[in-house]
Order: sequence, then C-alpha cells, then structure tokens
Amino acid sequence: MPGGDHPPLDPAVGLCSACRYAQQVVSGRGSTFWLCGRARDDSRFRKYPPLPVSRCPGFEPGEEG
Ligand code: SF4
Repeated sequence: MPGGDHPPLDPAVGLCSACRYAQQVVSGRGSTFWLCGRARDDSRFRKYPPLPVSRCPGFEPGEEG
C-alpha cells in the first residue's frame, strides 16, 4: 500500500477493525462482535474487547481474519 498507510479504521470499532488478529463475528440476530485472536494465549487481551479499541499493545495491521 502506498506510504504504508493502515487500512481505514471503522470509528465504531477502532483498532480491531484493522488488526490482523481480529475476527468479526456476526450473531444469528445480526449483531457484530469482534473477537481478539490474541486473547487465546495472552491474558492481557479480552476475547471480546470493549469497543471502540483506541489503544492496544497487541495491534498489528493486516487483513481481518
Ligand atoms: S490485538 Fe488488540 S487490536 Fe488486535 S484484535 Fe486484539 S484487541 Fe483488537
């Protein structure tokens, strides 16, 4: 990507919307959750982080999973 820019953030979601560890989960009732893939083996992270996430030590830009 030119300039190495991050993909655009969804302001309602924050960093997770552009993080390679995030996984978007849509419930049967149509609500959207963001699951943090780092929570599985690192207790610093919540499995379902409260949104929007404005700062996260585990953030790494990348495709959503
Ligand atoms: S590491 Fe941080 S930014 Fe990435 S999915 Fe987990 S909580 Fe979101």
